[in-house]
Amino acid sequence: MNYNELQKNIEKFSPDVLIAGAGLGGLLTGALLSKRRKKVLIVERLSRIGGRFTAREIEGYEVPTGALHLIPHGKRGPLGKILRKDLKLRTPIRKLHYFSCWKWKGEQKERRHQIYQDIFRMLPEQNDRLTLLKLAKDIPLRNKLTRPLNEYLSTIRASPRLKGFFSAITGFSMGLENHQVTIGEVLEFFNSLFKYGRPGVPRGGLRFLIKEINNYIIKRGGLVLTGIKVVELDNSSGNNLKQVILKARGHNDDHLSVKPKVVISNMGPIYTIDKLTDIPKRIQIIKNRLQVVMGAKIVYSVKKTILGHSGVTFFPDNKWVKGCAEPTHLAPELAPKGRHLFIAYITFQEHGSNSHGYQLKKAREELLSCYPALDKIGEELSIQRYGEGWPVNWVRQGIYLQPKIPFVENLWMVGDGFKPPGLVMSEGIAATVKTVTNQIIKYLDKAF
Ligand SMILES: Cc1cc2nc3c(=O)[nH]c(=O)nc-3n(C[C@H](O)[C@H](O)[C@H](O)COP(=O)(O)OP(=O)(O)OC[C@H]3O[C@@H](n4cnc5c(N)ncnc54)[C@H](O)[C@@H]3O)c2cc1C
Repeated sequence: MNYNELQKNIEKFSPDVLIAGAGLGGLLTGALLSKRRKKVLIVERLSRIGGRFTAREIEGYEVPTGALHLIPHGKRGPLGKILRKDLKLRTPIRKLHYFSCWKWKGEQKERRHQIYQDIFRMLPEQNDRLTLLKLAKDIPLRNKLTRPLNEYLSTIRASPRLKGFFSAITGFSMGLENHQVTIGEVLEFFNSLFKYGRPGVPRGGLRFLIKEINNYIIKRGGLVLTGIKVVELDNSSGNNLKQVILKARGHNDDHLSVKPKVVISNMGPIYTIDKLTDIPKRIQIIKNRLQVVMGAKIVYSVKKTILGHSGVTFFPDNKWVKGCAEPTHLAPELAPKGRHLFIAYITFQEHGSNSHGYQLKKAREELLSCYPALDKIGEELSIQRYGEGWPVNWVRQGIYLQPKIPFVENLWMVGDGFKPPGLVMSEGIAATVKTVTNQIIKYLDKAF
């Protein structure tokens, strides 16, 4: 389709809502708005949809673009609820075998736990369990606790082992070190774990799930276009976006203009603000302070299972490799018959002068020392680094940005920059999407 035709088609389509970016946040919002009979146009700059929540097929393996095929709270969490109750998708989300598994240095066997009541037994030493009890009494006060986790742990005289226990949890679930997150946010996260339960893997993995959400939108009259980039959000004429300027891949000199009633950005807070024509100084200052979370992951194909179960295994004594999983126990279709997909998640240390390349090399050594068999029965399928433009998280867990840009009435933001307390990764995205959708419906009903 040439530019004129594309422009005509978009004008003819005349969307109520334009969504910039087809990541999980953009697609979920598109699906919920389509359900409420709003005309939705989603544009995605890449040639595929799903952002960091899908997979690419490599040698018969579903290698994730970001997320490890895990939905943090399975079918009971905010994402599972939207999929089951709002969209009524039939895709089953299978629950992990274990609530958590711990590989402690010097212990031959992993400690595996079925239920969260086992939390005290996750720690090998009685002293650490007693210290953890002190922390449990603070759960009701969690929203008032703003001290960094590492400071708090020093105050309660936590042992290096207990600090490592937390470092594995914050590293794997938030991509953060103990000094980068508050004790309040960690307790909020524990509260969500107790409330909603353990992670799950959707049948067919993330690519299949994303396809299902996309089909839902299309069936309800929505339009999803790939290879189209939002280049400008034109707020030059006051409190509303006058138009959105788009460019198609390979056509740098031409542009398209869309005038929807509402715009939702799934581009992340930094890119969204950068694309505005007029940016107030205070918003620019906030933007400049935002720090993305970086990390990496290594994906192996293995001939025989390394872990022997579907649970996430945490490494409290490691510096870089914080956790790993084999989602193929619950979704064997993610790998060729009889094989497994083994995925290790790596955090980068913030302090020190070591480059990410060096840290990745050390992480690989650390991983092989935990599982020497990986070298014999495994083959590295992919190593992925997550940095400035494609991060682990746009905003650190525990920093609560508002999804509504205050000075532009018809612009909202969704995605992993906007998560409520205690809800990590896709669960936080889903919870905010639900709130934003209701706000938009109200706005559209009132203004038009
Ligand atoms: C290594 C790793 C492991 C993870 N593990 C898990 C896990 O196990 N479980 C879990 O739930 N979460 C996990 N996450 C987090 C999860 O993957 C992300 O939080 C989630 O995918 C982010 O979704 P999003 O809505 O912010 O959109 P994104 O994935 O950021 O998608 C945004 C989309 O917008 C597009 N876009 C950007 N700019 C433009 C533009 N100008 N015009 C048009 N389109 C544009 C992008 O191309 C992209 O497709 C993990 C993340 C990483 C990196």
